[in-house]
Amino acid sequence: MVQESTVVITGASSGVGLYAAKALANRGWHVVMACRNLAKTEKVAKEVGIPQDKYSIIHLDLASLASVHQFVQDFRATGKSLDALVCNAAVYLPLEKEPQRSQEGYELSVATNHLGHFLLCNLMLEDLKNSPAPEKKLVTIGTVTANPKEIGGKIPIPAPPDLGDLQGMEAGFKAPIAMIDGKKFKPGKAYKDSKLCNMLTMRELHDRYHDSTGIIFNALYPGCVAETGLFRNHYSLFRTIFPWFQKKITGGYVTEELAGERVAKVVADPQFNESGVYYSWGNRQQEDRTAFQQEISDEAMDNNKGKRLWELSEKLVKIA
Ligand code: NAP
Repeated sequence: MVQESTVVITGASSGVGLYAAKALANRGWHVVMACRNLAKTEKVAKEVGIPQDKYSIIHLDLASLASVHQFVQDFRATGKSLDALVCNAAVYLPLEKEPQRSQEGYELSVATNHLGHFLLCNLMLEDLKNSPAPEKKLVTIGTVTANPKEIGGKIPIPAPPDLGDLQGMEAGFKAPIAMIDGKKFKPGKAYKDSKLCNMLTMRELHDRYHDSTGIIFNALYPGCVAETGLFRNHYSLFRTIFPWFQKKITGGYVTEELAGERVAKVVADPQFNESGVYYSWGNRQQEDRTAFQQEISDEAMDNNKGKRLWELSEKLVKIA
């Protein structure tokens, strides 16, 4: 009997991650939903109809390094092989006046979206390497707002993504420091910076490990799913207008189902087996549009910055 493939998806309790879990379960994968709220995850998995034997739920709080280590132990205890890892979870906290902090005292959006995933990827490389699957994948969810090569990434509110010379990280990234560039706290920019870090990390993983392990490291923009929980911390007026704007004006809106299906494609379809690249279906949605390799911002292509970010992140997550 052929063993079913197993994928770990972070943040599968909502939005893109939940529907990616459903789409991969429908394709016969076993999905490990790596989530911080077990009861919520169980409830939504049932609600969207993921078959009971196609998923398991393991606790993961990306804002705690201890929790990331515990997750990896708990996953290994299942005895399952890891064939794909999807780094999807994120927080977006655009209205915070003061930075929230992770367990270790790092600004929360960078800690969750970048540092927690950075540690998880480093630990789970071993599991991916050990998988007998012919193709092993580590897939990261990117966004236009962190990519100034796309229109959505040029919007200067509150500022475009910019890691500067990583001065904030060099200085330890704890209070009073809240930004990677060490400058004044801008919560919306902290999110963009964290997603830029995701892209630099994907490329650096590719440079370091693709040739030696064969693991495919890539990323995708799933489309603008303007109605997910990601916007739960925004003004209620924004939550009303933004989906309308994306549906009627930009044409960028996609449903959670379609976004989840796109993640599943990148994980499971051989068409998406190139490593070190970022896939997109574009900003304006069109029927039957096929995916293409989206150009990445100059900063995300900066190899020296990627290497320095890697070294500093290793220190912050205490693996160096
Ligand atoms: P979402 O519905 O808010 O989902 C985010 C997920 O992350 C939730 O499951 C959430 O868990 C989880 N999460 C947050 N903090 C966590 C932590 N500390 N530890 C573990 N899990 C945590 O948002 P979404 O729109 O689906 O976002 C998913 C991905 O898509 C993100 O990477 C985002 O950047 C990307 N993206 C979204 C859009 C869009 O338009 N929505 C566009 C481009 C890219 P809880 O359920 O417990 O809160």
